[in-house]
Amino acid sequence: MENTSLKAYNTFGINVAARWFSSFETREELEELLSSYSGGTIKIPSGPAGSGQKSETRPTKPGANPSLLILGGGSNLLLTKNFDGLVLKNGIKGIELIREDEKYVYVRAGAGESWHGFVQYCLQRNWAGVENLSLIPGSVGAAPMQNIGAYGVEIKEVFYELEAWDLQEGKVFAFSLNDCEFGYRESVFKKKYKDRFIILDVTFRLNKIPKFRTGYGAIRQELDKMGVHELSIQAISQAVIHIRSSKLPDPRQIGNAGSFFKNPTVAADRFEALKALFPDIPGYPSADIVPEYSSGAKNEEHPGTTTGKNSGFPMAGVKLAAGWLIEQCGWKGYRRGDAGCHALQALVLVNYGQASGKEIYDLSEEILQSVQAKFGVTLEREVNIVPPLGG
Ligand SMILES: Cc1cc2nc3c(=O)[nH]c(=O)nc-3n(C[C@H](O)[C@H](O)[C@H](O)COP(=O)(O)OP(=O)(O)OC[C@H]3O[C@@H](n4cnc5c(N)ncnc54)[C@H](O)[C@@H]3O)c2cc1C
Repeated sequence: MENTSLKAYNTFGINVAARWFSSFETREELEELLSSYSGGTIKIPSGPAGSGQKSETRPTKPGANPSLLILGGGSNLLLTKNFDGLVLKNGIKGIELIREDEKYVYVRAGAGESWHGFVQYCLQRNWAGVENLSLIPGSVGAAPMQNIGAYGVEIKEVFYELEAWDLQEGKVFAFSLNDCEFGYRESVFKKKYKDRFIILDVTFRLNKIPKFRTGYGAIRQELDKMGVHELSIQAISQAVIHIRSSKLPDPRQIGNAGSFFKNPTVAADRFEALKALFPDIPGYPSADIVPEYSSGAKNEEHPGTTTGKNSGFPMAGVKLAAGWLIEQCGWKGYRRGDAGCHALQALVLVNYGQASGKEIYDLSEEILQSVQAKFGVTLEREVNIVPPLGG
């Protein structure tokens, strides 16, 4: 389809258009679309895949460098303007038990499966490991992109391998756990392989014997409230669903993409200095690399920033709550036009209706600057800005 509105395809509800839009349900369809697109023409199926309807071939821009956006559920995207290229919605479906042993099941899911649908599929079969990740919007294929995480669990803990189409080499490669270089909301696909691979399917290694994780957030209190006496993965999932539904704005009601920023990690000495200035500042032990230690940069304005002593040595630090920092800067509940910072969750930026992606981006920039000025902490956006803005 040509000049298609993407409003229904992104949870922010931003109304921009794609120059070309199509979807694929198999590897073969993907290959066909890609080869026709890069060849200067695009074959647009005029009916659903497999419907037998005729396709039409249209010229694109010969010689131009075609831009491509792979879309899952559009729940981690901020679209900043019309997309002058091809948007491909991943519709590869299917969940399959590959093999099992005494302790584990190995389950492969198509990238176009809904993530929460996959979680429910596992819960029904008593396969443990993803219950804490219930109700995260989006697709299976996007989950490894940022190593989705919630309530003390990240998908890297149950990830086994994935297969992805290499746009450069034109063939499929398998990625093991190590290959993916997972970190906090990070993977190799957001760094050195950014925009190079299309994830086709993901294989998970799930536990037959559950290891319950109830220590994070309000899970335990919620289980008590629910009157749960015997712990199960189904009960944990329900508790997570209750908490999430009460805390996070539903994108069907208010456009948003969940947490807009990542929780930053600072060095332990830096945290102590911040605590002296802001006694209520929350901080949690973190295994993430402290950026200021890896750069060795010293911040003159804000006491406690790393000195030469440990510079150059990535070390564990303290994770700060980005939502708290933003709230302290007075942004919670702020609204300008239709762009705003949610009244209950300062970490979530929202579109009340007609905001443009640029308006939301500009608001995020102001928030980022104010947190930097007050705390000397640089926030990083978690949401993918497409196309990117700023420097
Ligand atoms: C209300 C709400 C709550 C959320 N809570 C959480 C949370 O608790 N934890 C968390 O980690 N995230 C959370 N998110 C963010 C989001 O749900 C996840 O990042 C999710 O994995 C995005 O999936 P998607 O299919 O919507 O990706 P999209 O938004 O469609 O895409 C995200 C990025 O991945 C790329 N991409 C998508 N599919 C593929 C593919 N198959 N191959 C290659 N690249 C691909 C896209 O090009 C884009 O760059 C939340 C979002 C919302 C709206």
